[in-house]
This record gives sequence, C-alpha cells and structure tokens, in this order.
Amino acid sequence: MEKPVFEIVIVGGGVVGAAIAHELSHYALDVVLLEKEEELSFGVSKANSGIIHPGTQNPAGSLKGRLCVEGNRLIREMSRPLDLDFKEVGELIVAFDEMETSQLWQMKMEAELLGVSGLEVVSRGWLRDNEPNLNRDAVAALYAPSAGIISPYRFVYALSEAAALNGVEVRTSTKVEWIEQMQGDSEGGRARFVVGTSAGELMARFVINCAGLHADDVASMVAAPRFRIQPRKGEEYILDKKRRYLTRHLLFPVPTPESKGILVTRTSDGNPMIGPTAYKVKDKEDLSTTDEGLRMVLQVAQRLVPAIDRADIIAYFAGVRPVAGEDFFIESDRRIPGFVNVAGIQSPGLTAAPAIGRDVARLLEQSGVEFERKPQRRSKRSRSIHLFSMPLQEARRLVEADAECGEIVCRCESVSLKEIKEAIAEGARTLDGVKFRTRAGAGRCHGSFCTCRVMRVLAEETDRPITAISKRGKGSEMVVEDRADGRT
Ligand SMILES: Cc1cc2nc3c(=O)[nH]c(=O)nc-3n(C[C@H](O)[C@H](O)[C@H](O)COP(=O)(O)OP(=O)(O)OC[C@H]3O[C@@H](n4cnc5c(N)ncnc54)[C@H](O)[C@@H]3O)c2cc1C
Repeated sequence: MEKPVFEIVIVGGGVVGAAIAHELSHYALDVVLLEKEEELSFGVSKANSGIIHPGTQNPAGSLKGRLCVEGNRLIREMSRPLDLDFKEVGELIVAFDEMETSQLWQMKMEAELLGVSGLEVVSRGWLRDNEPNLNRDAVAALYAPSAGIISPYRFVYALSEAAALNGVEVRTSTKVEWIEQMQGDSEGGRARFVVGTSAGELMARFVINCAGLHADDVASMVAAPRFRIQPRKGEEYILDKKRRYLTRHLLFPVPTPESKGILVTRTSDGNPMIGPTAYKVKDKEDLSTTDEGLRMVLQVAQRLVPAIDRADIIAYFAGVRPVAGEDFFIESDRRIPGFVNVAGIQSPGLTAAPAIGRDVARLLEQSGVEFERKPQRRSKRSRSIHLFSMPLQEARRLVEADAECGEIVCRCESVSLKEIKEAIAEGARTLDGVKFRTRAGAGRCHGSFCTCRVMRVLAEETDRPITAISKRGKGSEMVVEDRADGRT
C-alpha cells in the first residue's frame, strides 16, 4: 500500500507539539501531529501548575529564560483569537529577612536582563494591603505583574484545534515505534524518513521529536541520542474552591536549595493549589504522591499562608518533568538532516511553548523549508460554554434557549449535558478528556455522582459500547464484560 508523504511529522501531542503544529499551520505545508495516547495532552502537559511565568526564575542568558519571556508575550496575543482562559494575576516572590530581600534585588536584575518588565520590590506595608492572608512575618516581595494562570489542557486543545482547522492532520492512538532514514533520493526528494507507527507507516522530509518524557527513546530510533531524559517528579495538592479567596496573587518563597519553589497558586477554574515538589525518580510513569511530599508542600505553603489547612485538600496529583540538563535542548541534529529534537522541556515549558513553536519554524526555515503564508486562515470555532464561570444572567439565558444547558450532569462543578456533548464533538473520547474540557468529575465528590452518566453520554455520542469507555485510554476501561454469561 502506498504510504502517505508529509513534509513535516511532529511526534508528541503535548503543549509543545500542539504549539509547533499551530505555528506551522499558518503556512502552506503538509503537517501531521502524531500522539500515542487516545487524546492529546495526556502526558506532562496534563499535570502541572498551569502558571504562565513572567521569566523571573530563569538565569539570564538561558534559552528557557528567553523563550519563557517571549512565550508569556505570545500567549497574551493568542488569548483572544484562541479564546484562552488566561488570567493575569501577578506573582509575589516573598522574602522573610534581609538576606532574602537582597536575593530579590538580584533576581530582579537577572529578570530585567531577560526582558521582564514591570518588576517591583514591594514593602511589608504593600503586602499587608494587597495580600491580606500572607504571613505577617513577610518583609518584602518581588512583584511580577505579568505572571498568569491558564488551564494547561484547554490550552493544548485550543492550539491543536486551531492547527487542525488550518490544515494540520492530528492523529491520536498513533505511537511512533520506529524511524528509518532513507538512503538516496526518494519520492523526488520529498521524503527522508519512513515513520513506523502503531497505526501504519508514513513518510516525511522532517521529523520533529517533541515526545516529552520519551524524547530520548524517539531520538534513539535514528541515532544514539545526544541527551538523556532524567524524570523529576512534582506533587501538587488542590484545595476546595470555597477557599478561592485565600490569595490574590501567585505566591512563591525565595528559592533555597531545599525548596525550589513550592508555591501557592490557583487553577484557572478557581481552586487554590499548592506544590510542586521536585525530586528525581527512575520511572517516567511514576505518578504516585507520597506522605513526605504532602508534608513538605504543606510546610512551605503554610509558611506563606498560615490559614491553609490540610482539610482544605480535595485532590492531588503528580507530574514528571522531562529534564535533560539545566536548559531546554532544541537542535536540528546535524548527523541526521531533517531530524529536530525539542527535548528537556521542563518548567517553564507550558509558558514557553508558543515561542518554541516559532523557534522550531526558524530552524526549519534555515534547513530549507519554504514558508509560504496561507492566503486565508480560519480561527477557532465558536466559544465553548462553561456554566461554572458564567454570570447567572447569562447562564439563565442559555438555559432558556437550550434545555440541555439546564440539564446538570456534574453538580459539584455545574456542568451541563450541553457542555459534555460539546466536549465530545470537540474530540473528547475518555472520561479524563471530558473532565479536562468541562470539569465534570473534578469537584469535591470526584465524579461519584456523574461518572456513570458521562460514560453513557460518551457511549451514545461516539456510538461505542459502554465497555469501550475508559478513564484515560486503553487499559483503563471502567466496565468489563463477563464473558461467561455476556453480562456487563
Ligand atoms: C509538576 C509540574 C509543574 C509544572 N508547572 C509548570 C508551570 O506552572 N508553568 C510552566 O510553564 N511549565 C510547568 N511545567 C512544565 C510543563 O508542564 C512542561 O514543560 C510541558 O508540559 C512539556 O510539554 P511537552 O509537550 O514537551 O511534553 P508532553 O506533554 O509530555 O507531550 C509529549 C507527548 O508525546 C507523546 N509521546 C511520547 N512518545 C511518543 C511516541 N513514541 N509516539 C507518539 N507520541 C509519543 C506523549 O504521550 C505526550 O503526550 C510543570 C511540569 C511539572 C511536571
């Protein structure tokens, strides 16, 4: 069978792959994005703090620092056309004594060298007026107004949907298993690689490896990798929404060798969140949380905001950072023309992703890709409904116009049947996919009330049996058939 030929194959559908796809979708190029999981954003990009960093915590001169500052700016620009739920809330790096205060001045200077603007070292009086629940022992803070928060997975979906609308092919459940470099001129010079996947083979002139924790495994399919991924785990703890007014800004301690930035933040949906820890693990898939992690996170968070109580915690998760040395590792591999590694994208990768997209496009241009702007670009389709974040009047109007908006499936987070169906129409195929898009199942009862209903809607809308509905893809199905008597 003839293999499809693409100019560019992107391996990995996290925020980095989605941002690269989005950037390339502005041009007349044949691009395909391959993701091994059933949905996009099921890797590192689903489990992080959701902070759009201003660039205050990176060494001047670092690649990640430059891309963080540029990414922060680009996300603002994209916010309206992509309907992102980005909220600029500002951050405070809090000092408790004179020595820490002098560190703030040093951090300010380094960040200004990177181009971060609007920074200010604020006084104890300012903190009392503007962050009332902050520990009264705080003496000063570095204020960065351009810090913000975003829903990390909805960011990935917005980027990938816009890319798909503009011609990028997105294939999920497609694991890249091997890559073969072709010898000589093939397909009239249009292809240099054959890419073998769990769903068939295809050919490509360029392969962009942004496989997150598995970027070294993918790189080793063509040559010995020039980097190794060292997994570094971070545990995070989510607090009840009723505590949403606990803080006004994102609060960080001054980094120390013991604590590299356990912070008090909140999700873009309004839940306060504390964490993350940062420690090396051997297993890339180890997403367990620990008593030690909880103890450490609570200790640092309570030093910042003493009113935080262990009983406020309603959920927890861990994410694993794909670390490859101190900085990001982005390079066109000279040994293998056409192969680009975008690896080691640890924090602030979520923030930097759109800037990484631009850098990769520049790399491709230098390697001979012709960037011809498309005459017409379609933007994202109509705005998603989120009843939980809507003024009551607006929600009432929607319910009057469409009864499905009034049929509440998830009571904790006020998610309607309409929202669930809309998420499925956008591409959700699993319970997590629905949860990430709508918040159904993300509330205090953890889906005890709505899971069965969401499963039924998923089965009906995608015309699959209930046994095919899973939490996060193959192997996590929720209902099994008893083969002996055919009952489920
Ligand atoms: C605890 C924690 C907190 C963080 N907080 C922040 C923050 O607040 N702000 C910030 O800016 N950054 C933060 N980060 C960093 C940020 O989350 C990452 O930099 C970013 O998500 C990396 O995205 P990615 O696309 O490179 O990786 P991923 O999201 O992991 O995407 C890679 C994708 O490749 C797929 N894949 C792997 N192998 C294959 C294959 N063979 N074939 C096909 N597909 C494959 C995977 O399934 C995965 O979906 C945090 C990270 C952690 C862990």
